Amino acid sequence: MSKQTQLRALRPNVGDLLRKPVGSSQMLEVNLQAGELPEGFHVEILEGRLRLTCTSQGIWVNGALNGTVPAECARCLAPLSLHIGVELEELFYYPASSAPNPSSCVIGEEAFLELAQPVWEQLELNVPLRPLCRADCRGLCGQCGKDLNLGDCGCREERIDPRLAVLQQLKKTTAEE
Ligand SMILES: [Zn+2]
Ligand SMILES: [Zn+2]
Repeated sequence: MSKQTQLRALRPNVGDLLRKPVGSSQMLEVNLQAGELPEGFHVEILEGRLRLTCTSQGIWVNGALNGTVPAECARCLAPLSLHIGVELEELFYYPASSAPNPSSCVIGEEAFLELAQPVWEQLELNVPLRPLCRADCRGLCGQCGKDLNLGDCGCREERIDPRLAVLQQLKKTTAEE
């Protein structure tokens, strides 16, 4: 499939569907690789199926997508691929003037369903704030920077939680006064 065709998977034209009776639906297959996705989409793979249903208010979109998002481990900085599931349930109002508020998803006169923004928002919501390469990742030594998953570095100072270190520093300062 050409790049342009692929991009249409997140921007299908629903002009025909809108003319069908309420309750009509069609499936949208999404299978996109990095480089085929809109700019700003930091996703390696995005795939899944969405159902588009014609309602009296517009098009109801529901379904699940799976994305692979590049990230790095919050402790050892190793590159990671995060597998993120996205559930989408969104009503796109048509005509756009019928939308109840400015943040509602709408379908313009050209009848393109602009899925990129809502999909990206859901993906971002599901990306963990501190992804880890594994639950027990030992991280990097605060002294020498060695990856402690590869073995001890021999630094003698015990590793302390940076938050505790601040407390200890505070105590020390208070004691010196
Ligand atoms: Zn790690
Ligand atoms: Zn060290």
